[in-house]
Formats: sequence, structure tokens, C-alpha cells
Amino acid sequence: MKSIMSVYKVGHGPSSSHTVGPYNAAMLFGRRFPEADRYRVTLYGSLALTGAGHGTEKAVKSGLPGAEVLFNTAERDLPHPNTMLFEAFRQGRELGRLRIISIGGGSLRIEGERSADEEEVYPQRSLAEIMELCRRESLTLTEFICRMEGDGLKPYLAWIWKAMQAAVERGLSTEGILPGGLEVARKAKLLYNDRSYNESSDVTMSRLLSAYAFAVSEENACENIVVTAPTCGSCGVIPAVMYYMRHEKGFPEAEILDALAVAGLIGNLIRTNASISGAVCGCQAEIGRACSMAAAGLAALYRLRPEQIEYAAEIAMEHNLGLTCDPILGLVQIPCIERNAVAAMRAVNAVDLSRFLYSTRKISFDEVVDTMYRTGKDMDEKYRETSHGGLAQMYRARHLPPEAGD
Ligand code: SF4
Repeated sequence: MKSIMSVYKVGHGPSSSHTVGPYNAAMLFGRRFPEADRYRVTLYGSLALTGAGHGTEKAVKSGLPGAEVLFNTAERDLPHPNTMLFEAFRQGRELGRLRIISIGGGSLRIEGERSADEEEVYPQRSLAEIMELCRRESLTLTEFICRMEGDGLKPYLAWIWKAMQAAVERGLSTEGILPGGLEVARKAKLLYNDRSYNESSDVTMSRLLSAYAFAVSEENACENIVVTAPTCGSCGVIPAVMYYMRHEKGFPEAEILDALAVAGLIGNLIRTNASISGAVCGCQAEIGRACSMAAAGLAALYRLRPEQIEYAAEIAMEHNLGLTCDPILGLVQIPCIERNAVAAMRAVNAVDLSRFLYSTRKISFDEVVDTMYRTGKDMDEKYRETSHGGLAQMYRARHLPPEAGD
């Protein structure tokens, strides 16, 4: 299993697989062929179907200025739904080409090559193995992670946490309409300030968690800087929970970093044993994974037992099973933004349940991850980030002219 540092990446929204990954791929290709006088980039699969709404063309062109970007929705024989072909030319002659896959969370795989992202840091591949080792050697999950990752982890997480907080704070102080044509208003500031008279502490918590999740997700929709946690589409869940715990409940920063480490481990296990891409497994792999990570991180912050941390992560994933990806107009706005807020609240509920019921559980975290992957594989393609199913299909049929509808 790879470093958890590759779970959290800082980059421009709105989509880790559709903007962060393609931007990084374009930068990489430009460095390989700096002598080219023309670049052509062809987007396939989900990148071609939702790339316009997700801003993929803009991301590619900001990494490779002047590149011609083509959308190929006809090709079906692909190694992955997020496939790109990069070609470089000089005076009409081809210099080279690379097929690059945006595997989710901003990470890339170059066909026929092994990337630095592939370096293995953990020999373990399941939470069961990790828990067994921790039991044997009397380690907490945080101690285990620090032992495996070395000294570079904490400064990296401190940088990530700073970027997460900055996104919350920018989002809370900004109003207006999100770009893309759906005319969705930014709501984080409203939620943050709209304290009602005699509001109960439970309502305050839900309102603030939602405000923080909206703040980050709206920043993402505006193509501003966010942290993939684990993806751009799901970037609001973990910052919402951790920001609340830091700034409303006063948990020290060092403990927040430990919680991010535990959340990262859970996200890493899901990436290793299933997928982190909406184009492969639907939204259960993005929001479901973020919810599971946030629940585990929060349980660790509360210093719950390892079994309770596992159960919190399992509950959070279990109740996102089957969640489809159907963003309207291919924009990461509806249902994505609200879904981040709902997942943040669900993560808190999962931890509350895990406190009391962990000794009665029947399903392990590893089992629910395997189930998520198999569910994703069974899911009709139109529910996997194509904008051809669900809410996206309904919206096109009802609100767009017939020639653009189904
Ligand atoms: S519906 Fe979920 S997976 Fe799809 S773009 Fe939105 S957040 Fe990402």
C-alpha cells in the first residue's frame, strides 16, 4: 500500500480525476517533450462525457498552453474510464505519445510505466492485518502510521490542514453564483450566519458542519484551491468535521493531524482494495469514502478504541453503498455540494453509533470495502460519472431543449 500522503493533494477544483489529474498529466507531458511545437490531447470515456462541465479542457490547457483538446465519446475499448492520449509534434512530425490514466484523487498511471506514486510504504493491504499488528505490538493506529511513514508525514499533514482551513475560511466569506450556468447560489456564508433564536446545540452543530462543507465544496465548484480528501468532489467532508472540532470544540492542532493520519489510512485502504473514482464505482467511492475517512478520523480524535474506529469507518461506508454519480450538466454542484454536508453529519452519527454498538457488529471494514467495489462494478455505466443517468438525465429532459435532451 502506498503512502497516505498521496491521498491528500492540494490542487484546483472542481474534480481530482477531471482537473487535478489532467493538469498534472499535461504538465508531465510538456516536461517530456519541451521541443514540441504542437500538442494534441484526446479525452475518452468519462473525461469526454463530463469534461466540459468539469473544466477538463481548461485544466489541460493550463498545464499545456495552446494544446488542441479533443473529446472522443465514441471509443469504448479503454483501459479505464478516465483515459487521455497525449501527442507531441514538431514541424508536422510526431515526437511521441503517452496514454495517461487519471485514476482518481489527482493520481496518474502512465501506460507501460511505473510512477513514483506507485512506491509501496505499507506491506499490509487490509485493516484486519493492521489491527492485528497493532494489537500484537500495543500500538495505536496513529503510532503505527507514524512508524510506517517516517518523519515527513506530520509536516505534510500540517501543510494539508492549513490548505483545508484556508478553503473553509475563503468559502465562508464569499457570496455569489457558482459558474457553469446552473445559477446555483453560494450558501456557506448564509448557513454560517443564520443562527436562529434559541437554536439548540445539536442544530448549531449540524448548521456549522454544513456551512463548512458547503464552504469548501463551493470553493471547489469555483475551481479554487482545495485538498483532495480524498477527491475534489468530496473535498468538503473531512475539513468540515475537523474544522468544527478544532474551532468549536477546541481540539489541539496536533490531535487534528493525528486524526487526518487515521482518516488517510482508511482512505488508502479503500483506494487499495476498491476505487476512489466516481467513474469506476460511482459516488460511493468519493463521498462514501470521504464519510468513512471522516468517521475514522473523528473516532480517533475522541480516542475511541481501534475496534470503535473500525466500526465508525464501516458504518459510514455501509450507508453510502450504492450511491450513484449523476452530476447535473457534469458540474460538481448538484448533488455534490449538499452531499458533502450530509456526509459530514453522517460521519458524526456513525461515530456516535460506534461508541455503543461496536461489540455487536457483524460486518468488518474490509468486507464493506470489498462490497463497495463489487457494487460499483455492478452499477450501470450511466451512474458512474457520465452525466447520463439519475438527476443529470432528469434535468436534461426537463430543462434543456429537446436536441440537447435524451
Ligand atoms: S456525484 Fe459524487 S462522485 Fe459524482 S461528481 Fe459529485 S461528488 Fe463526485
